Amino acid sequence: MSEGAKPHHVPGGFRNPWSSEPVRGFGALLKWKVLDRFLRPRARPTAPPAAPRVVPPSFPRPHAPSDRLVLTWVGHSTFLVQLGGVNLLTDPVWSERASPVQFAGPKRRVPAAIDFAALPAIDAVLLSHNHYDHLDDGTVRRLAAAHPGARWVAPLGLGAFLAPRGVRDVIELDWWEETRVAGLAIGSTPAQHFSSRGIRDRDRTLWCGWSVAAAGRQVYFAGDTGYHPEFAAIADRFGPFHAALLPIGAYDPRWFMRPVHMNPEEAVRAFQDLERGRPPVPGRPAIMVGMHWGTFQLTDEPLDEPPIRARAAWRETGLDPERLWLPAHGESRAI
Ligand code: ZN
Ligand code: ZN
Repeated sequence: MSEGAKPHHVPGGFRNPWSSEPVRGFGALLKWKVLDRFLRPRARPTAPPAAPRVVPPSFPRPHAPSDRLVLTWVGHSTFLVQLGGVNLLTDPVWSERASPVQFAGPKRRVPAAIDFAALPAIDAVLLSHNHYDHLDDGTVRRLAAAHPGARWVAPLGLGAFLAPRGVRDVIELDWWEETRVAGLAIGSTPAQHFSSRGIRDRDRTLWCGWSVAAAGRQVYFAGDTGYHPEFAAIADRFGPFHAALLPIGAYDPRWFMRPVHMNPEEAVRAFQDLERGRPPVPGRPAIMVGMHWGTFQLTDEPLDEPPIRARAAWRETGLDPERLWLPAHGESRAI
């Protein structure tokens, strides 16, 4: 297939091939952040959000047994994934703020649950896109210095950001492309989102999710995404998954966020789509892992609302409650 024939490629950048609802631009951002705040001030919540749950990390060192998948939530979309004897990080963010500057912008409500210095040797890093809450300048530099042997796997266009910050080994992939890193099979999946770090670079680099597989274990990391029609196709191609890491936060106001961030109800629907695309192996049902909440206040919903709504939506489906994992910061689960 030629480059031009790919429906998510456009000259100079990328687009979502399915959404009939356009991703909002800079004018809409001003309306949400400035005009609506002024015209319709938010009702003061009756109670402050519940304090986030934090537990001391207890992941296996230096590696998990090679036949195990162990997931540890560092916060937001950052996970330590231990699979096939390999240590991998997703969207690593250790800085205080998810912002171009460290004196302003969304501040952490919870410290990164694993101290940076306490990380085991990192073999691979997966990036989903270039937003500040997923691709952090300071963290990229620290990881490149402290874990110089790591291989970074990124969507098209992010190599140019990584190389000047000291990252030596980068593979860029387009949707549906695959690579192997230290025995892991890694595949890029579609996502419905956008990219930008400034005001003139909208959608010049790609966004994606990832499938990671080794030793008969497969995990899906969805990155940032709105609800779209290809979750079943993703599972059909790369599944069945034993764990699906799906974003459940940063969804209000819906008129702005619907095209780019799922709400908890949509995330549960996406999980069901994955299972429809490739039913789980008998005796080894998949779990859904809720991420992208509880760490940075990026949007209008209360910080503690996503897990409450995710649990309610899960109950509606009748699925086993044990299969929904809403981790505490620092918590690990072996699969
Ligand atoms: Zn994003
Ligand atoms: Zn995000």
